[in-house]
Amino acid sequence: MATNLLHVPPPQGLLRPLVVPERLLLGPGPSNVPPRILAAGGRQLLGHMHPEVLQVMDEIKAGIQYAFQTQNRLTLAISGTGHCAMEAALLNLLEHGDTALVAVNGIWGQRAADIARRLAAVSHPGRRHLPLCSMQGLARHKPLVLFITHGESSTGVLQPLEGLGKLCHRHGCLLLVDAVASLGGAPIFMDRQEIDVLYSGSQKVLNAPPGSAPISFSERAREKILRRKTQPLSFYLDMGWLANYWGCDGEPRRYHHTAPINSFFSLREGLAMLAELGLESSWERHRANCAQLCQGLHDLGLEPFVKEEKARLPTITTVRVPKGYDWKEITTFLMENHAIEIAGGLGPSVGKVLRIGLMGCNSTSSNVDRVLRGLRDALRRCHRSQL
Ligand code: PMP
Repeated sequence: MATNLLHVPPPQGLLRPLVVPERLLLGPGPSNVPPRILAAGGRQLLGHMHPEVLQVMDEIKAGIQYAFQTQNRLTLAISGTGHCAMEAALLNLLEHGDTALVAVNGIWGQRAADIARRLAAVSHPGRRHLPLCSMQGLARHKPLVLFITHGESSTGVLQPLEGLGKLCHRHGCLLLVDAVASLGGAPIFMDRQEIDVLYSGSQKVLNAPPGSAPISFSERAREKILRRKTQPLSFYLDMGWLANYWGCDGEPRRYHHTAPINSFFSLREGLAMLAELGLESSWERHRANCAQLCQGLHDLGLEPFVKEEKARLPTITTVRVPKGYDWKEITTFLMENHAIEIAGGLGPSVGKVLRIGLMGCNSTSSNVDRVLRGLRDALRRCHRSQL
């Protein structure tokens, strides 16, 4: 029944059907979601305290322990994206006045330093070259936490972590690692490498939609949280509450927030697919397809942004924007003519690079061929002299 009570009409856009085109997502994430994971996310809801959902959460926890190679009991998925896990890690560890040392190798270090400053923790951005810098930084600043990004998606660099955990512990410091872009695509061993807090995201190698973020805390990190003098600044991300909801503290589980249940179904399937494939096969798959891509890019005359082969992130490859081209025209051309997403740079790499992601199920030889075909076409058609 039409009345004149409403001065805002129903929006026309919402009265039309939802439009979601088919695209091959070969940017730095999200990656395409395979049918099995899509179907899991489309299942009917259950209540967030129903035993079947708590069971799924337990399975997610075991899946994260496998993917991270850890036995930490404080292991769970944050209800939020990678940024949310980054905030959860920093705000649970740091208290007002604590010192964090941040290795700024790209945008993620910049953001971690920003978050640490917002928490009124003193943040000393480290320089590019670790572990030498961290040795000096650790001795000079005596930080409580060292933050470093394993797979720097803005530059395409894979940061070696060997020895860093031990070094941190010799200086009484906790090691916090961002593996959002690398988990499942490059080896990482949380326990063996003595990483204290490790987090990732759902929408990259795990091929689930964005919205849930695996995270785990070592006993050292857990004890630091227990010794806090002040409560963490966020209720939503308070690890005490989350530990209880995820059954990590041995107490009866209590309602904390309504979990994004369908995101958890999807994450469970993403972790299940990784477990079925096996971590080592997954690492090998990413290595091989990345090598094929790098060779193809070289054959097209494109220059790798990361010169040293073993410093390249197997999930996200960066090449310099070739002379005579505008990066935006190349990415738009690929999207409009080949239905393929690739990305330009981010943060410090804006305008300098093109980024091509091959993650999880998207990391296939045929996708490498497809993106190379698209790029060859783009290089022919987008040269400035033709405009
Ligand atoms: N860290 C890294 C290394 C990332 O690549 C990303 C996402 N591109 C994030 C953190 C943030 O994740 P999200 O966008 O899911 O919040």
